[in-house]
Amino acid sequence: MNHPLSDALVLFGATGDLAHKKIYPALQALLKRGHLEVPVIGVARSGWDLGRLRERVRDSLREHGDPDEQAAEKLCAQLRYIDGDYKDKTTFERLGKELGNARRPLHYLAIPPSMFPTVVKGLAALESTHAARVVVEKPFGRDLASAQALNRSLHSVFDEQAIFRIDHYLGKEPVQNLLYFRFANTFLEPLWNRNYVESVQITMAEKFGVEGRGRFYEEVGAVRDVVQNHMLQVLANLAMEPPVGADSEALRDEKVKVFRSIRALTGRSLVRGQYRGYRDEDGVAKDSEIETFAAMQVHLDSWRWAGTPFFIRAGKRLPTTSTEVMVELRRPPQNVFREALPPHCNYLRFRLGPDQVAIAIGALSKKPGPAMAGEEIELYVCNTRDDEATAYERLIGDAMKGEATLFARQDAVEECWRIVDPILRMPKPVYFYEPETWGPLEAMKMTESLGGWHPPMPEA
Ligand code: NDP
Repeated sequence: MNHPLSDALVLFGATGDLAHKKIYPALQALLKRGHLEVPVIGVARSGWDLGRLRERVRDSLREHGDPDEQAAEKLCAQLRYIDGDYKDKTTFERLGKELGNARRPLHYLAIPPSMFPTVVKGLAALESTHAARVVVEKPFGRDLASAQALNRSLHSVFDEQAIFRIDHYLGKEPVQNLLYFRFANTFLEPLWNRNYVESVQITMAEKFGVEGRGRFYEEVGAVRDVVQNHMLQVLANLAMEPPVGADSEALRDEKVKVFRSIRALTGRSLVRGQYRGYRDEDGVAKDSEIETFAAMQVHLDSWRWAGTPFFIRAGKRLPTTSTEVMVELRRPPQNVFREALPPHCNYLRFRLGPDQVAIAIGALSKKPGPAMAGEEIELYVCNTRDDEATAYERLIGDAMKGEATLFARQDAVEECWRIVDPILRMPKPVYFYEPETWGPLEAMKMTESLGGWHPPMPEA
């Protein structure tokens, strides 16, 4: 469906870290493609003027963007700046004047979540708000109750169709390709169910630790930071039924059905870990119980997946940085060649980045020679480079067009919180693990009977 384009972009949080790292480079890329012809109005309270903001934008583009000087110049020319506190009514009066004749602005809230309700209330007074759109950055709450409260606050001013919740994972090319690969081909469908799939593993491994963001991480932990959002979204792309069409609501309806089918997590299905040394990081409490690692089994009560275990693990200070999905197929019904089979022999492997993206099929093939003995081989279906930078560009471009497919809908967000909410309210103790290992031993046991966790492949 064609929606009208937004006619201005208002950036709350224009002086912040996210704007510097991701948003300005994405705006430059959009502009280069001719998709950003509207004023960009930054709003923050640093006491800056437009000249200072332009310097910041140039710095951001030098560090994270494209060296294209012409595009940088053009973006700077489109910039406006309003310096003011969001708690101050006059900030919004000045914004209203700056918006001039714009009737369908896109308001991007790249600000601390505690400020969302204040800004939403401020926007309510603007004449242009009835046709405006709003982009909200994660986290969408910190548990089910706060997510519901945030949604109530947003809905007091904006319709759900005007709200674009960014989970940048949804904008990533390899995550979209999971869907495309499944539903643009026929060969997977007969296998893609409980009859042929033994288990599914989703691993998000990070070699690095909290990298100076200890204070932020203390409020979050692995479950809130990446499981409730990114990992469950990947799981939905793997487990959903084919949508009736490619429009945003058809796709999002099917994802919500997956979330509804997932049982709320209990302590029994979860292992929490913390890397040794985390408590010495800046901003971290000496007795912190925050998890830097989480492994869990997820149960789906659906016709397609009942009884097939889905495992998720995510952690920091692991041996490598890689996000990978392993869909393990069942073993052949008879061991015709009477040989010892390796733990993982028939599978589909999806590497979602960083850097390298791949879809591979794991199989056994006969080793050349007189014996009927096999060796493990991997067939690459696709093998490309990750283009992480395009995720923000795509998402901002889509929000400007009112295209909602790649954004999280209210019901999906609340369902995902419902799934993790019990383990947030009654957290289990954390087990320590050594840096550069695959987390606590307790997590290893979780998949033992299925051949163990499959370590993500090192980059080819
Ligand atoms: P920062 O703290 O770096 O920036 C916050 C911005 O909000 C600044 O521009 C600040 O202005 C402005 N601001 C805060 N309070 C007020 C106020 N009362 N009045 C006016 N301006 C105000 O945050 P980030 O950029 O890191 O994060 C922004 C959002 O994006 C958060 O929701 C975060 O969770 C999310 N996010 C961030 C990521 C990242 O990598 N940084 C990754 C994914 C999501 P000033 O500087 O003038 O005070």
